[in-house]
Amino acid sequence: MKNIILFGAPGAGKGTQSAFMVEKWGMVHISTGDLFRKAIRNETALGKEARKYMDQGELVPDAVVIGMVEEVLTEIEDKNFVLDGFPRNVSQAEALENLLKKHHTTIGKVVSLEVPTETLVSRLSSRRVCSQCGAVYNVVGKPPRVEGICDQCGGQVIQRDDDKEEAIRTRLQVYEESTRPLKTYFENQNKLVEIDGVGEAQEVLARVEQALNSPTS
Ligand code: AMP
Repeated sequence: MKNIILFGAPGAGKGTQSAFMVEKWGMVHISTGDLFRKAIRNETALGKEARKYMDQGELVPDAVVIGMVEEVLTEIEDKNFVLDGFPRNVSQAEALENLLKKHHTTIGKVVSLEVPTETLVSRLSSRRVCSQCGAVYNVVGKPPRVEGICDQCGGQVIQRDDDKEEAIRTRLQVYEESTRPLKTYFENQNKLVEIDGVGEAQEVLARVEQALNSPTS
């Protein structure tokens, strides 16, 4: 499978669908949000810088994100990848194009997961994550077997600071203002594929696969 950008609002299911793609197609998952959270856990300078913005639901400055993505693209050499959470505005998209040129590669498709705002809010406010391994749970649909404890690694299951109400509102606003306009950018490149992101994760995956395999996409 060629390189993919998974696009969509916070809570649209990008992380879940990326995990399927990694498993099915052996792609490398590049999630800028996960990379920042790891840097915060490891208390690096990058983590300290990113945290100032993340907890409020604001975007981390472009130069910081772009520098980090450049490092990852160099590390993974020529493996195919799925980008999750990057680019998030037009200037990041332009920077990505330059980086890809440098690495002699391109994006095949941009898969946009479409989910109504009310559903995003309810998904984000009920989401819980393992503070150690990042496994994702949901207090309504998929709680850990033992409350507060990760099924996979025994770590503590918590609510992300940016999944609290005030930050959710900011993140959705940032998406509308800075990120959603990117859809037109990718549409003009004939790369955009829109997928209904509502429903069971496996159903959404089937729609993604069908769209990516269709000769017209
Ligand atoms: P995510 O896990 O993708 O929802 O990202 C969590 C947070 O990390 C975002 O709300 C931003 O603060 C930051 N972040 C992740 N990716 C980017 C990006 N491409 N540009 C700027 N900030 C980002």
